[in-house]
Amino acid sequence: MICVTIGCGSHKRMIEEWQKLADDHVKFVELRLDYLRKEPQLFRLLPQRPTAVLTTVRRKSDGGNWRGSEEERIKLLRSLIAEGVEYIDLELDVASKIPRFGKTKRIVSYHNMEETPEDLDAIRDEALEKCDPDVIKIAVTPKNIGDVFRLVEFLKRANVDRSKPRTLALSMTETGFLTRVLGKKWGCPYSYASFSKTRTLAPGLPYYKTMRDVYRYDEIDNETSVYGIVADPIQHSLSPLIHNRSFAEQGINSVYLPFRVSKEDLSEFMSKASDSLGIKGLSVTIPHKMEIIKKLTQFDPAVETIGACNTVVVDGYSSYGYNTDYIAAVLSIETAMAGRPVRAGEASPLEGQSALVLGAGGAGKAIAFGLHERGARVIIADRNAEEGERVARWLGCEFCPWDEREGYVVQILANCTPVGMFPNVDESPMELKSLRGGMVVFDAVYNPETTYLLRMAREKGCRVVSGVEMFVGQACLQFKLFTGKRASASFMRSVVRGALSSVHAE
Ligand code: NAP
Repeated sequence: MICVTIGCGSHKRMIEEWQKLADDHVKFVELRLDYLRKEPQLFRLLPQRPTAVLTTVRRKSDGGNWRGSEEERIKLLRSLIAEGVEYIDLELDVASKIPRFGKTKRIVSYHNMEETPEDLDAIRDEALEKCDPDVIKIAVTPKNIGDVFRLVEFLKRANVDRSKPRTLALSMTETGFLTRVLGKKWGCPYSYASFSKTRTLAPGLPYYKTMRDVYRYDEIDNETSVYGIVADPIQHSLSPLIHNRSFAEQGINSVYLPFRVSKEDLSEFMSKASDSLGIKGLSVTIPHKMEIIKKLTQFDPAVETIGACNTVVVDGYSSYGYNTDYIAAVLSIETAMAGRPVRAGEASPLEGQSALVLGAGGAGKAIAFGLHERGARVIIADRNAEEGERVARWLGCEFCPWDEREGYVVQILANCTPVGMFPNVDESPMELKSLRGGMVVFDAVYNPETTYLLRMAREKGCRVVSGVEMFVGQACLQFKLFTGKRASASFMRSVVRGALSSVHAE
C-alpha cells in the first residue's frame, strides 16, 4: 500500500488535495498537520474522510514543521485519537505517554535527520517493549551506501517473526531511495510518497504516481526481480522509466531502480548488490563506466578495448560486463545507410566508408570502436588533442585537430560531444557548409531528439540518426540480456519521446 503524504499551509487546500487523491483511487493518506499555518481544526478535516487517514504532527527536530509547544502537540495527538483517526504517528519518546484508545492504530516512529545510528535493533526493541506499536517506523539518513545496506539487513531481521508488529525502515535521500521501493520485499507494510512532484516533504520521497505507475509498488513481492542503473547524479535518467514500462507492458515481475552511488561507494555497492538486494542486472553510466570494469568477474572483449561498460548481468557472485552503446549506435547508423535493418552475417554498409567522430569521451570511444570494427575508416576529432590522439591510436583510428574538423570530406558524421544538448539547443558542433547531401549524420545527444545539427543535416538532404535511436537500441539490448526477452523498440521509443516532451513542457 502507498501512503500519500499531504502537507499544506491551509485547511482548504489540504481538503482539496485529499479529495483529488481519493478521486485518483488512492486509499491511504497521511495528513501532515504540522504544515498548517493555523491551529488544526479537526472538525473541518476529519468528519468526512475520503480515504483512511494517518495523522502526523512532526516536530522540527524530526524533520517536521510544528511551530507550537510540545504540550499543545501532545494534546492534539490525543484529540486525534479521540476522533478515531485510522492511524496516528507517535514518536518513540512520546508514544509511551499516550495510551491506546479505540480502533486507532499506532505507528511508533523514530527519525534521524543526521545519520543512521549503529544500533537500529535497540530502537526497535525499545518501541516494542515500551510503546505498544502496531507498526514501527524508522527513518534515518545515510552517510554512504554502507548505511543503506546496514538498514536493509536490519529490516530483513526485524520482519522475520511475522507475529510481531511490522517494521517499516527507510533510508532517506536519493542514496537510500531503494529502501522506499524494495522495503515491501522485506516486510514493510506500506511506503510513503508525495502528493506533488516538486513539493516533497522528506528527502528522497517519491511522487505517488511514479511510485504507483512506474515502480508498480503494489505489485512488488518476494519474487520480484531487481534491476537498476548505477550513476551519480541520477535524477535525469530515463532508464528507470523505459525499463519499468517495458516490464509492465510484458507482464514481467521485475522492478528497475535508480541507484545513486558515489565513486567512493562503488566497490561496496557492487560487492553487496546481489547478496543484499538480489540485483540481477545493472545499467551503468557516468561516472562509473570505466571504474566498474575492475569490479567485474568477466567482461566482453569490446568492454576492454573501449574501456567502458554500460551493462552488467549479475548471477550470484559472478558479474559479466557488456557495452551495448556501441552496438546500438552502429546498428542504427547501418539501418539508416541500408534503409532497413542489416541482417546478421550480411556485409556491413559501413565497410570502406569514412567517418568523422566528434568527441573522444565515453560515447565517442564506443562509436569509433564500432565503426572501425565494421570496416569504416574512422577519424576522431577532439578539442583535447592529447587525449584525442591517444584514443585514436588505441582504437586504430586517425586523429584530426578540433579546429580542422570542418575540412574533412566523409560519408558519416557522428557527434559524440554534448554540444546541442538541452538547454543549449541552438548550438552545433559543425557548420552548415560542412554538411553534404547523402551523408549520414548521427547525433548521440537525445535531448532534444532533433538537435540543431540534425535540423541542418535534414535541410542539406542528409540521412539523420538521432540519439534516441541509440538510447532505445542500447536499452533493448540490455532488456534482452537482463530478461532473455525481446523488448519492443517502438514501445520504448514512444516512452522516451513522451518523457522528453513532458520535460520540455514543464
Ligand atoms: P563524455 O565522456 O564526458 O565525453 C564528452 C566529449 O565531448 C569529450 O571528448 C569532451 O571533451 C567533448 N566536449 C564536451 N564539451 C564540448 C564542447 N563544448 N566542444 C567540443 N567538445 C566538447 O560524455 P559522453 O558520455 O561521451 O556523452 C557525450 C554525449 O553523448 C552526451 O550528450 C550524452 O548525453 C550523449 N550520449 C548519448 C547516449 C545515447 O544512448 N544516445 C549514450 C551515451 C552518451 P573534453 O574531454 O575536452 O571535455
